[in-house]
Amino acid sequence: MSHEDCIFCKIIDGEIPSSKVYEDEHVYAFLDISQVTKGHTLIIPKQHTKNIYETPEHVASELFARVPKVANAIRDAYNPVGINLLNNNEKAAYQSVFHLHIHLIPRYGNEDGFS
Ligand code: 5GP
Ligand code: ZN
Repeated sequence: MSHEDCIFCKIIDGEIPSSKVYEDEHVYAFLDISQVTKGHTLIIPKQHTKNIYETPEHVASELFARVPKVANAIRDAYNPVGINLLNNNEKAAYQSVFHLHIHLIPRYGNEDGFS
């Protein structure tokens, strides 16, 4: 299941520390190390898959099914006024980590939530 040299697989396995937001048998959600707004979170499938092109339907279903729960956990914790979902696929589309992930980016109006 885990993929050699994949930093997100190492995060799932606990080899690399992370700030966990949510976890169950299918997904892991954690704070982005470089948050663009307060509470910027990544949700990833526990099964390694490079990006959306290579993702089996059941993995995509299990991943997206958890997004409302994680979005609500972020709302409860940080009280944003909205949230963006973002998924980058391949270098040309700014994918930098090649383990499928959805960014959840809370919005605070005109603020980034840090001030
Ligand atoms: P991408 O550019 O591939 O869509 O997003 C990858 C995200 O992973 C970036 O926002 C980056 O800050 C985050 N990231 C990269 N390495 C780590 C890490 O070791 N820990 C955490 N928590 N986030 C990471
Ligand atoms: Zn991986």
